[in-house]
Parts: sequence; structure tokens; C-alpha cells
Amino acid sequence: MGTHINKLVIVGGGTAGWITAAAFSRLLGKTLSIELVESDAIGTVGVGEATIPQIIRLNTILGLDEHDFVKRTNGTFKLGIEFVDWGQLGSSYLHTFGDAGMNLASVPFHHYWKRAENAGLNKDLWHYSLHKCAADQAKFGKLDRVGNTSMTGLAYAYHFDASLYAAYLRAYSEKHGVKRTEGIVQTVARNAESGDLTAITLDNGQEIAGDFFIDCTGFRALLLGQELGVEYQDWSKWLPCNSAQAVPSERLETLVPYTRATAKTAGWQWRIPLQHRTGNGHVYCSDFISDDEAGETLLAGLDTKPLADPRPIRFTTGRREQFWSHNCAAIGLSSGFLEPLESTSIHLIQSHVSRLLQLFPTSANPEKERAEYNRRCVAEFEQIRDFLILHYHQTEREDSGFWRYCKNMEVPDSLSHKQELFASSGRIGRDADDLFREASWVQVMLGQGVTPEAYDPMANGLADAQLGEFLGNVRTLIERAVHSLPTHEQYLQKHCASAGS
Ligand SMILES: Cc1cc2nc3c(=O)[nH]c(=O)nc-3n(C[C@H](O)[C@H](O)[C@H](O)COP(=O)(O)OP(=O)(O)OC[C@H]3O[C@@H](n4cnc5c(N)ncnc54)[C@H](O)[C@@H]3O)c2cc1C
Repeated sequence: MGTHINKLVIVGGGTAGWITAAAFSRLLGKTLSIELVESDAIGTVGVGEATIPQIIRLNTILGLDEHDFVKRTNGTFKLGIEFVDWGQLGSSYLHTFGDAGMNLASVPFHHYWKRAENAGLNKDLWHYSLHKCAADQAKFGKLDRVGNTSMTGLAYAYHFDASLYAAYLRAYSEKHGVKRTEGIVQTVARNAESGDLTAITLDNGQEIAGDFFIDCTGFRALLLGQELGVEYQDWSKWLPCNSAQAVPSERLETLVPYTRATAKTAGWQWRIPLQHRTGNGHVYCSDFISDDEAGETLLAGLDTKPLADPRPIRFTTGRREQFWSHNCAAIGLSSGFLEPLESTSIHLIQSHVSRLLQLFPTSANPEKERAEYNRRCVAEFEQIRDFLILHYHQTEREDSGFWRYCKNMEVPDSLSHKQELFASSGRIGRDADDLFREASWVQVMLGQGVTPEAYDPMANGLADAQLGEFLGNVRTLIERAVHSLPTHEQYLQKHCASAGS
């Protein structure tokens, strides 16, 4: 590679630091010398246990053995997120990683379903979802297709123990030549002329020089924020939750293959099933509930016995004005934070790492690469932001100050356009590079209670009897496919049982 960069310094050894180290050592390990500095005394944020299917790409790039990976992180498989009490109290839906039914003549399935529903069909869209059918029966297995049809099989992600995940990637990175140094960064030296970072000094006086620095210091943003002064754009007016309390509890009796997100009076509570325990947390807005009350809500909402006391975490949703400035890029919580409702943070780490690798400097002043990197990171953050806001804003709930605020707040034009388009015609106005696919937008819009006024007229291409037959066949094929799957528990026991499970 034609780069003048010989030494890469990563500061921070949380999930972000170790994913970055793993990927860079795998792909540029022969070109760069890589050193990661972390401090056991400072520790990591210690949460981040649910993922989305894109993580499989990262694992493939790293060449990880999936079953070994799941086993060593006490992991489980995830088919989606169950949202309880969001659109209104008593409602629930599963945002799955798959499509409902199958598209026909290029017309998305939900338009056929809507046509049938208008004509009196009494089944919701999820009646035709392979993922929902498998999730309801706590089943999981590898399935590329449904029968001999073009209906796609099970798309999945993982739940895992965050500390075991970081340890797993650390072992991987060290094996690939990354040098780990323990210590607290105390000062940062810069080139007087260019302002670029040149070295960091640790609390024991050791100086570590580098050509390029990656700031993975979590919410502190030690290099990009504190040293380089890149400002933070606060998105709390759209995503007002600013606090969380996390607590582990005993494992679930039935290991369901999905995360659950239950809306509460001033936020929501997650439940993440792992092989040896359950991860739980209450994400809330402190303007509407006290920390004590939030802790009580969390404990009252547990399905199994708590194993520790709730641990508080504060955050501000938003992003850095730039993700890469001078010779320093921020990856992970240091670059911004989108609250964990759709488990997107680890994905953002992975996507920033792969973008940085694609645009890694080949000249002393990589102005164009930096601008392109920042442009693409901003777009990605904003697309995910809109998808998250949809969950809060598209609601009938008015039973607390928090929900009245969310229901009535102004939202970005980019989101209201999508809401209006779907409400009028069931169509989705997503950007081509949006992380969330059409099927995701459709599920969340319908799940939150939007009823489209019309469906795509191309769905009238089938006669009434053909439409009934088509829907019936889809359901039969799904039932058959799910019948042949093992339970999630059986799959784990057979392929990736952890020592502690
Ligand atoms: C409540 C909550 C729930 C979440 N749930 C999910 C989820 O389900 N799915 C998901 O994808 N993401 C989730 N996330 C996000 C996820 O936790 C983070 O993206 C992920 O853990 C990465 O964190 P990090 O490595 O950026 O920061 P951290 O884990 O905070 O690591 C920072 C590192 O920097 C080091 N450091 C800091 N300052 C110094 C210094 N001066 N000198 C040396 N070292 C230093 C620390 O020692 C540490 O190693 C959640 C986040 C929160 C807050």
C-alpha cells in the first residue's frame, strides 16, 4: 500500500478498540505496526450485547468460526426485537431481520397483504413471517430458503456477553500482532505547524508516538473531542433518553431467539437472553423519572432473579461534528451515540472501521478521503437516527409526560416525509444506502400503528381467488419450514454450548 503511515495507535480497549484492532491487524497487519492502549483502572462501558445481521460480515472478514465465537461469548442467536407497548399500551410486534411473505412481480408482499386485509382478511402481516413463526416457537436453525421457493430463509444476528466479546477480540488481535499497552493517557503531543497528533504520554511517563490515531476512548472522546476540540451535536430533542441502568439476572428458562424492548412510562427496558444469564437495562429520560424510580421500574420488570445491583450510565444522544479530524478518527462511543433501541452501535463501529480501511490515507494530506469519510458517516448516523425517532414519535400513547412529548415533538423532515408516504400509499421512501431495509421500515410503521390508506395498484394483478391461494401457500410453506427447525436451545446445545450454560 502506498501509505506513509507506519504506526497506528488505538486508544481504548472496549468493544470499539478491539474491533478496530482486530480488523486492522487482519487487513493491514503486514503494513502497519499497531499498538492499543487501554486502562483497566478506567474500564469499559460494559454494555452492548445485542447485534444486527451485518456483524456476520465482520466475522467473515476476521475469519471467525461462528460456533466457537458463540460458545466463547456465551452467545445466543437473534431473529429480531420484540417491541411491547410502543404504539399503544397492550400492543406488540416483532421487528424481524427478514421479509414477511415473498414479493411477487416486483411488488412488495405487504401490498398484497394490505389488499387482502381491506377485503376482510383477519391476519396481521406477521402471520406470513418466517422469523415470527420461528420466534414464537423459540426455534432456530440455518435456513437459506423456504422450501424450493425464492422466499428467503432466516437472517440472524447474535446476543453475547460484552466483556467476553472484547476479550475474544483481544486474543484475536494479539495473535495477529497487535501490541497491548496498559496505562492512562495523560498528555497528547501535537505538531506545532499542522496540529496533527504526534504522541501520547501515559501516567507512567511512557511516550507512544504514532502516525495515525484512533480514538476509542468511549464517551470521554479524549483525542477527537478533548484534544482536537471537535464539537458534539446534541440530538436529545428527538431522542430524549439520557440515562440507563443495567442489571444482569438469571437466565431465561426458555432461551427465546430475540431481544425484547418494553416501553415504560419514561423510556424502555431491554431483555437480552444469553446462555448463562439475562442482560437487562432500563433506558430513560431523567427529566421525566428519578433514578430511584427508574431502578425500581427495572427490577420490577425483570423476568428472572437479579444477580447484582443496577449500574447507572449517563449519555447524550448525538454525534461529533466530524468523525475524522487531522490524523485522528473516533470510532465507537467517542464518535457519537445512538441509543441502543435497534442495537446499532456495534454495527456503527464495524461500519466506521471498514470505511476507514477503504479510505485509509495514502498521502500526507488526505483531505479528500477525510471529507468523504465524514460525509458518509454523517449520512449513516442521520438515517439510523430517523429510524429510531419513528419508534417514539409514531405512537398513540399519551399516558405520561414522556410519551406526550414524544408524540407531539417536531421530527426531521426526512422522517415526516417517510411517515406521510407510508400512511398514504404503503410505500417506503428510504435512501438506497439506508442500513434499514424496506422490510424493517414496513414492520416498524405497521407495528407502531400506521395504517396505509392505499396499497400499490400493481397488487391487483392477481384475481381474488389467486390472492387467497398465494397467501395460504406462503403460510403453509412457513409452517413446514419452521416445523423442521430445532429449538434454539437444541441448536445451541448441539453446536455452541458454553461452559457455563
Ligand atoms: C445503555 C447502553 C446499552 C447499549 N446496548 C447496546 C447493544 O445492545 N448493542 C450495541 O450494538 N451497542 C450497544 N451499546 C453501545 C455499546 O455499548 C458500545 O458501542 C460499545 O461498548 C463500544 O464502546 P467503546 O469501546 O466505544 O467505549 P468503552 O467501552 O467505554 O471503552 C473505552 C475504552 O477507552 C479506555 N480509555 C478511556 N480513557 C482513557 C485514557 N485516558 N487512557 C487510556 N485508556 C482510556 C477505557 O479504558 C476503555 O478501554 C449500548 C450502550 C449503552 C450506553
